[in-house]
Amino acid sequence: MNRSEIDEEFWNAAREGRLRLPRCPCCHAWWWYPLDTGPCHAAAYEWVEIPTTSLVFTRTDVQRAFVPGQAVPFTLALVIPGAAPVVRLVVRLGGEAAIGDSVDLKGVAETENGPVLVFGARSDQSSRPTST
Ligand SMILES: [Zn+2]
Repeated sequence: MNRSEIDEEFWNAAREGRLRLPRCPCCHAWWWYPLDTGPCHAAAYEWVEIPTTSLVFTRTDVQRAFVPGQAVPFTLALVIPGAAPVVRLVVRLGGEAAIGDSVDLKGVAETENGPVLVFGARSDQSSRPTST
């Protein structure tokens, strides 16, 4: 499987608000980020759709642009999909979600440097109190 196939499967689903992750067809191990061969040297992955609900593993507020022209501030986070707890996804985090909070996929931001997952607080949760 080449890079563009991985990108296409993953990002097409994400743009529709769905989370599809590659899994080894032999042992069913999640394989993220997928390399060209899986843990059992399988030639192909199976793509499995899972709920988008995830937990914030860690987060950081970015105050300085990584590249010229990048809009700041923004929050980067690693989130753990509830159905694939060995996976860490790099995302932009909206709102005030803290480490350990439950978040959902909100969409995909198309940036000059490529697509970025956007996660935010689950809509069925009340918003967190702010400290202002
Ligand atoms: Zn396997």
